[in-house]
Formats: sequence, structure tokens, C-alpha cells
Amino acid sequence: MSTSDDLIVGIDLGTTNSLVAYADERGPMVLRRNKDDSGLLPSVVSFDPSTHRMVVGDEAKLHAVERPLTTVYSIKRLMGKGFSDVTQEIRHLPYRVVRRPSREEGRDLPAVEINDRLYTPPEISAMILKTLKELAEVHFGRPVLKAVITVPAFFDDAQRQATRDAGRIAGLEVVRIINEPTAAALAYRLDQKKESTIAVYDLGGGTFDVSILRISDGVFEVLSTHGDTALGGDDFDREIIGVVRDEIEKQYHVRIESPATQQALRTLAEQLKIRLSHESEAKFEIDIGSDRRYERVIRREEFESLIRSWIDKTIDCCRAAIRDADLEIGSIDQVVMVGGSTRIPYVRRRVGEYFGRQPYTAWNPDEVVALGAAVQASILAGKTSQMLLLDVTPLSLGIETLGGAMSKLIMRNTRIPARATEMFTTFVDGQTSIRINVLQGERELAKDCRSLGVFELSGIPPMPGGIPKAEVTFLIDQNGILNVSAMEVRSQQAAGIQIIPTHGLTPVEVEAMVVESYAHAREDMTAHQMIDLRNQVTFETTKAQDMLDKVGHLLGESERRETETVIRTLRELAKTSSQPKEIQQARADFARKTVRLAEIAMTESLKTI
Ligand code: ADP
Ligand code: MG
Repeated sequence: MSTSDDLIVGIDLGTTNSLVAYADERGPMVLRRNKDDSGLLPSVVSFDPSTHRMVVGDEAKLHAVERPLTTVYSIKRLMGKGFSDVTQEIRHLPYRVVRRPSREEGRDLPAVEINDRLYTPPEISAMILKTLKELAEVHFGRPVLKAVITVPAFFDDAQRQATRDAGRIAGLEVVRIINEPTAAALAYRLDQKKESTIAVYDLGGGTFDVSILRISDGVFEVLSTHGDTALGGDDFDREIIGVVRDEIEKQYHVRIESPATQQALRTLAEQLKIRLSHESEAKFEIDIGSDRRYERVIRREEFESLIRSWIDKTIDCCRAAIRDADLEIGSIDQVVMVGGSTRIPYVRRRVGEYFGRQPYTAWNPDEVVALGAAVQASILAGKTSQMLLLDVTPLSLGIETLGGAMSKLIMRNTRIPARATEMFTTFVDGQTSIRINVLQGERELAKDCRSLGVFELSGIPPMPGGIPKAEVTFLIDQNGILNVSAMEVRSQQAAGIQIIPTHGLTPVEVEAMVVESYAHAREDMTAHQMIDLRNQVTFETTKAQDMLDKVGHLLGESERRETETVIRTLRELAKTSSQPKEIQQARADFARKTVRLAEIAMTESLKTI
């Protein structure tokens, strides 16, 4: 149990979304209101126009349409800025931002005006921080008084100070302000490196930045940073809206003007974009009044061409950042993905291609900054020594195979980096996808191991069972990040997943899992053998039945019946018996009694050549 004193949370105070995280010996985790909650709090504050009562987050976001003047979003853009710095910015904001005279000569500050009352940007941010603080207090059941808060690397002193002020107003002692890219690197524990150069690519809702970090002996230095404060996921939504709006206007000769319809378009466009991150096409549907309904399928390729020029711009920024850091692209050791928009497969592909290496996406990109802030918090609280940091894999890693067995590719206590490859196949005819369940643990059955993640290798052309060859590769890099990839050899279809294998386990739990595996070793072995044996029986009896269907008429009547019986008997026994010996005996009997069938089938097949 920790005391309030060493309870420090990590907070990502974002332009679009904010979240709070905490790290203990299981590693960092995002705090959520309940198990269905994403943990993401929209950075939006909405005031009731008459009472000043305010709401924060999802509820506030819902009010954006009907209360444009009293719903405040993107406040981060105003933090720590003078009024004259933001005159451009505030033209795009529906709420009122006014000049607030300051004692400092020549530095008037912006303030948000809500029903005749003025709120400073730190005051608005404090409402978001307070909501996160309360969420954490519900989680821990006691006061939370300290936080590490992240800011963009390019934030100047005034912007950092404004962030500290926001914390103080919310009742939090800001024990440290850290850079968002540094936090992202900390989440992956890249601070453990002696020397390393890292690129952090952060594509959020409304902003993009890329930073080049240098780590030496656990100390981070920002070598360069580049970006565009008006480039992000919102632009991708607008591209979709553009297409849809043009078509609706052409097709129905109506203009879309009402704010409510525009907001509906925005919401639908964002949902469609998010669906396209895991589906190859998605449908846009909207009622446009008078019983008319506009429907349109957008394919992933079309979406990719809509956002191509935006992504080109981000790559240009990467190039500029590398140049400013006086580096060559080859000297980047790691690329870390941050921001909700890096969930888009096209973005991952382009960044991977540009840097010539697979970027890190094992942590959710919209959570990774908060998780890293939590890691920093736990370092400050003196707690990191309890976290698992290893140069060997503490538990075996593998995949689930037919019948629920665990097939290990990398054994426990293997030194990292490590790599293993194995071939798998399908059993069913015409199977066009293979589900790959990545497992961790020492037990022999999948159900007794920890599932680290699941992915689907799809698009395999239909072939008879046993013919497709799926090459599964496990690669644990020097930072302990596991990449699992699968490729079907004939069709070259590939898929993969990235995972942090030790996440969520304490050293004590790891030890317990190993000890438990010893206790069950014998029964587990038998269970695994049974699965293998049953798979074998399925394979052999299916083959025999095939032959019987084809050439059975060439056997005598009684012989054919006897063969049918022996196939059925073996199948039944494999299902019901738990005695490997008994099944082996039946298998031997089956083999003897199907010799003639096999011979005839062979002769027949030779004839057809
Ligand atoms: P910020 O750092 O600006 O506060 P986030 O990192 O939370 O914002 O990113 C928000 C953006 O990510 C939004 O534009 C949202 O639509 C986008 N986004 C979230 N999930 C996905 C997804 N699965 N596919 C594509 N875009 C996504
Ligand atoms: Mg962010």
C-alpha cells in the first residue's frame, strides 16, 4: 500500500483529448471510469448559458452544436499566449475570446468570455484537470494531490508556466512538466538505453509534430522538433465531408447550411474514418430531410488518396527535423507513434516506409503520452525498481494451434533480442483466413496461458486443408517489444501485431505462473499429446473417408462396410476416450484395415496421370 505522499499520477493534457494514468509494478495503465470507458476525456468544457453550470468531456462535446458560444474546445491553443499571438487562431473558434489587460507592459492576455464572465485559458484547462483528478480519486479512494503533466516539446516557458498554473488551480501540485515525445519514449522504457536516437511522430486531432530525441545514460534531450499546428485528424474528417457534401448538393440540389447538419456530418465523417482503420470499406449514411437518404460506400483506398497530401506534409516535417538535428535518416534507432490519427494503417505504412523501420505502436498511440507521464511519476516516487525490466523473456511465447494447444516459439529465459519462425497450416478445406492468438505462459493448453493479442491473417485464396503455409515469426527487439507477423507463403498475404509482453504482470505473478506450470507438468503433457493425437486422427480419418468416397465401389460390399465401421469407430473413440493408449490401438487397427483401400486409391490415382 502506498501513502498519499507517493501517489503521483501522469496526465496528458491534450488539445482534443486528455487522460490520466498511473504506474505501479504491473507497469503503466490508463485510469478509466469503468470497464467500458476509453479513458479519453474530450478536452471540452461547456457552460449552461443561463446558470454557468459547466460540464466537461463527452457531455460537453455533445453540446457543441446547440451552445456554440458557451462550449470551449482547443483551449490548449491559447495557453500561455499573448492576445496578439492568437488573433489568427480565434477567428476559427465559435466562442468569444477577448483581450484582457495585463499588468505586464505590452502583454495583453486572451480570455474566454462566457455570459459576461471571463475565464483565463489556465482556468478552463483546470476544469479538465480537475475532472481527471476526481476520476483518479474515485479509482484510488483517496485524495490525489500530485501530477506529472505533459506539454508539446515546442511549448515555451510561458506556455509551460500556464500549464503549471492550471494544475495549481485544479488543486494539483505539478511535480514535473515533461515533453510529450519524451513521455512517449518513457512509456517504451527507452530511457534504459545507454545511447539512442528516437523519432517521435505525433499526429493528433488538430496538430502534428515530430521530435528527434537523443538519450544518453537515461537523460533525454530534444535535438529538434517540427510540425504544423493546423494539421490533424480533423482535416481528414473535412476531406470526407467535402466529398459527401458535393455529392449531396449535386444529387439533391440542396445546400447544407444548418449547424446541426454540419455537426452531424462531422460526427459521421469521424466515425467513418475510424471504421476505415480496421475495415476495407465503410458506409456513410445520412438523412437529408424530406424522406431522402444519402448513402455512399467509401473504400480505404479512396480515403487514403484523400489524405495523401496531408501525410506528405508530415513526412516533409520529418525530413526537416532530421536535417535540423544534423542527422541522417539511418541514425534513427527507433520511431514511436503517438496520437489517435496514427491508428490509420496508411499513416503507419508511410512513416514505416520513410524511416525504413517498423514504428512502435504496441502502446495505444492515444494513450502512450499519459502512460509515459505515469512512468515518469513512478520514477519520481522512487518506484520503478519494482517494474519488470529484463534482458531475458520471463515467460514463454507462442500461439494457439488447432484443438487449443499452446505451441511455443520462444522459450522462457531466452536472451533478447530473439527471433523464431515456424510454419503452420490450415486443416479445413477452403479456409481463407487464420486467426492467430498470441500466448504467454508455461502451460501446454491455450486456456491456461495469457492471451496477449489476437489478429487475423486473411485474404488467403481457397486451398485444400493442409496446403496453405503460414509462416509465423516472433521477433523480440532489444527493448523487449514483441512483433508477431504471419505470412501465407503462396499468396504473400501478411498481417501482424505488436505487443509489450511483460505488461500487466508483477515479478511475483511471473514466478507464480512458472511454479504452477511445474505442478501441472504431467497432466499438461498428456493433454497436449491428446490434442496432437486427436488432430492426427481427424486428418487420417478425413483422408480415408475421401478415398472411400472416390474408390469405395471397387471394394467388395462387406469390405466397404468394414472400412466404414473402422473409420467411424476411430473417430468416435478419439472424441470420447481420454486414454492415449486406447486411441493408439484403435489407430493401429484402423491403419491395418485400410491398407487395401489405400492401395486401390493409389492405383487409381496413378491411372489418371
Ligand atoms: P490530441 O493529441 O490532439 O488531443 P488524440 O491523440 O486523442 O488528440 O487524437 C485525436 C484524433 O485521433 C481525432 O482526430 C480522432 O478522430 C483520431 N482517431 C482516434 N482513433 C482513430 C482511429 N481508430 N482511426 C483514425 N483516427 C482516429
Ligand atoms: Mg496528444
